[in-house]
Amino acid sequence: MQAVNTDTVLAVRAGRMFDGQRCFGPVTVLIDAGHIVDIDTTGATPPARAEVVDLGSDVCLLPGLIDAHVHLAFDASTDVVAGIGAVDDGQLLTQMAQAASRALRAGITTVRDLGDRGFLALALREQLDASGDPGPEIVASGPPITIPGGHCHFFGGVASGQQALRAAVRERAERGCDVVKVMVSGGVLTPGSAVHESQYDLTDLRLIVAEAHGLGLRAAAHVHAPCSIADAVTAGFDTLEHVTFITEDGVAADPATMDAIVESGVVVSATVGQVPGKGEPPPFVTRRLNAVIENWTQLHRCGARIVAGTDAGLGPIKPHDVLPYALGDLTKLGMTNVEALRATTSVAADACGLTGRKGRLIPGADADLLAVTGDPLDDIGAIHNVVAVIRAGRRVR
Ligand SMILES: [Zn+2]
Repeated sequence: MQAVNTDTVLAVRAGRMFDGQRCFGPVTVLIDAGHIVDIDTTGATPPARAEVVDLGSDVCLLPGLIDAHVHLAFDASTDVVAGIGAVDDGQLLTQMAQAASRALRAGITTVRDLGDRGFLALALREQLDASGDPGPEIVASGPPITIPGGHCHFFGGVASGQQALRAAVRERAERGCDVVKVMVSGGVLTPGSAVHESQYDLTDLRLIVAEAHGLGLRAAAHVHAPCSIADAVTAGFDTLEHVTFITEDGVAADPATMDAIVESGVVVSATVGQVPGKGEPPPFVTRRLNAVIENWTQLHRCGARIVAGTDAGLGPIKPHDVLPYALGDLTKLGMTNVEALRATTSVAADACGLTGRKGRLIPGADADLLAVTGDPLDDIGAIHNVVAVIRAGRRVR
């Protein structure tokens, strides 16, 4: 837990509030010792000891946003693999602190880091806790589990064979990771890895998920290939990252797998969000993007649980504060504005194992708030009009 200033009681007033589910207002949110203790809609006078922050009638309070898939260790340059190879752990930790700070300033109060080097996201979390410096809540996987030479092997999470896989999961639990990330298929970023092929078979995947769940960790599967997606659903992963159905020459979603995703209730972490005017994804992705978006759209239409996992840090179009752009992309999948807001708050909190603490403005929840001018339920672009960010009861912007 982040250090909190326990003697400050804040009463934050605004014209309206989206509480993670629905919108109402005007409201006064009472915050004490880093938590929300009351939400008043009656206009009652706040306690005398409270510092009143009146943000005005045209401001909307929201739960701090949650990015379900980031890489704090990537520097959002044109060659992130070279970038990470050029710095030692000390330098990398400094960069990651800057990345985390940038996310927080945009109102992203929780990030789920799905791949670092040397468990540095955990080190960063400890550093923020100890120093009291503002930073987002960090949910972390440590280095993704991958095969020798496989996708993101340079993070150091190589394991193959049942014994090594079991040991890898146990190590993550012992170190304090919240989630195990498995590169089930190859990835675009890693030369020599095949995006359209699986790196592990179903037996291995079942073992990893059982071991993770047995130790109280969640399990996230990086999946592009149709067979990888099918196996990850069967194995019981909690979240599926990307879900692109990429084949050697295009995109081919298997209807049975699409149905299985919807029926199982597994969370689809759609790789949405890019800053306009900063370039394009690699051609391999661009060629397939319309088909991928069509599949995510169909999954939403059929009732799949979808969150935004931006892959922040991956390149110039995905800096560490890219998530607000993802909300507009979610509406292009057919989500209403309120569905897009839920996907990046309450639904994302559930997906990250943070139900009750994050993603909702309710008594007892952590006081992580974003305030924007305008009404994002009416105009989703209002999410960019940040006027205040509160993290664990402390105003950080
Ligand atoms: Zn990723």
